[in-house]
Amino acid sequence: MKKILQDLSFSETETLVLSLGEKKFRAKQLFDGLTQGKGINEISSLSKDLKAKLCLEYEDKPVTIKEIYRSADGTEKFLFSLADGNIVEGVLMKYKYGYTQCVSTQVGCRMGCKFCASTLGGLVRNLTAGEILSQILVVNALHKEDKNGQGKEARAVTNIVLMGSGEPLDNYEETVKFLRLVTSEEGLRISARNISLSTCGIVPKMYKLAEEGIPVNLTVSLHATDDRTRARTMPVAKAYKIEEILKACEYYFKKTGRRYYFEYTLIEGENCDETHADALVKLLSGKPCHVNLIRLNEVKERDLKALDEKNAYRFLGRLEKGGISATLRRQIGVDIGGACGQLRASYLGEE
Ligand code: SAH
Repeated sequence: MKKILQDLSFSETETLVLSLGEKKFRAKQLFDGLTQGKGINEISSLSKDLKAKLCLEYEDKPVTIKEIYRSADGTEKFLFSLADGNIVEGVLMKYKYGYTQCVSTQVGCRMGCKFCASTLGGLVRNLTAGEILSQILVVNALHKEDKNGQGKEARAVTNIVLMGSGEPLDNYEETVKFLRLVTSEEGLRISARNISLSTCGIVPKMYKLAEEGIPVNLTVSLHATDDRTRARTMPVAKAYKIEEILKACEYYFKKTGRRYYFEYTLIEGENCDETHADALVKLLSGKPCHVNLIRLNEVKERDLKALDEKNAYRFLGRLEKGGISATLRRQIGVDIGGACGQLRASYLGEE
C-alpha cells in the first residue's frame, strides 16, 4: 500500500512539498484540495508534474464510497473502500443543527462484545489517522451543496462520533492524530465539543486521553451495573472493573470540565429489569454524566434479543425518577441495515 497524504498535518505537508522542490504556497493548495475531499489528481491548481510525483508515493484516493444506502428518514449508511480492498462502514445522520457522521477507527475489532457485529471476524487492521479523516472528507464532498454550521466554510458534517467499527482507544495513536487533524485550524476545524469518542472502557487510555488537550465528549459503553454481568457480553470487563472506569471518567471530568456519557444497550433478560435500573441509579447518582439508552439492534449471528419499546421507556422512567439524566435513543435508519458492523458483515457474506 502507498502512503496516505491525509495522514499529514499542514506543517508536515509543507515539509513534503519543499522536499519535492516546490514553492511553499503549493502546500496550501494541496492541503486545501485534500480538505475538500479531492483526490490528488483532482486538485487543478497543482502542476501535472507535482501530481505525478505525489502519486508515485501516495494514494490518489485512500478512501472511496463504495455503496450508499438511504433510509426513508434521511439517514445514509456508507460502505467505504480502502486502498487495500478492505471495507469499513459509516453512517450520516441529519439533524436540524447539522449532520453527525459516525466513523470507523479499525477494520473489524478485537474486543469481542457479544452483541456487536463488528467483532465477528476479529481485528483485521487499524486505520490510519488519514483514513479515519478521509471518511469525513468524502462525505463532505458528496454533500458539498449542504452548508451546515457557520461562516463561509460551512460544510455538511458538523459533528462526529467515533462509534463505527473498531475500538478507538485500541488504536490510540492514530485516533488522537485524527482528532488533531480534524480539529486543526488549517483543516476542517471541527470543535472538540462536537466530537464524541466511544470506548468499551480501556482505562489506562482514558487517563491518557484526558491529557491530550482535546476535550472531546467521552462516552463509555457500560451495558451492565456489575462486573460479572458485564463480562458475560463484554470480555473487556475481565481486564477493567466498572469502579476503575468510573474513576477514570471522574479524572476526565476534572481535567477537561466535560461531563461524560454512558451507553447502555437494553438486552432482554440480560441487563434491563427494575433491579438493574435501580443499580444503575445507585452507581451513577450525583455524577456529572448522562446515560444514553439504546434498544439492542439485533444481530442475526447472535441470539440476544432487544427489550421492547414499552419496557425501554419504563427503564428510562425509573432512571429519571432516580435523578439520573438519561435519554432513550431514537432508532433511526433501521430500514437500512441495523447496527455497527452489520452492513460490512452482510457485504462480506455476499462476497
Ligand atoms: N468500540 C467502541 C465504539 C464502537 S461501538 C465502544 O465499544 O464504545 C459504538 C456503540 O454501539 C457502543 O456503545 C456499542 O456497545 C454499541 N453497539 C454495538 N453493537 C450494538 C448493537 N447490536 N445494538 C446496540 N448497540 C450496539
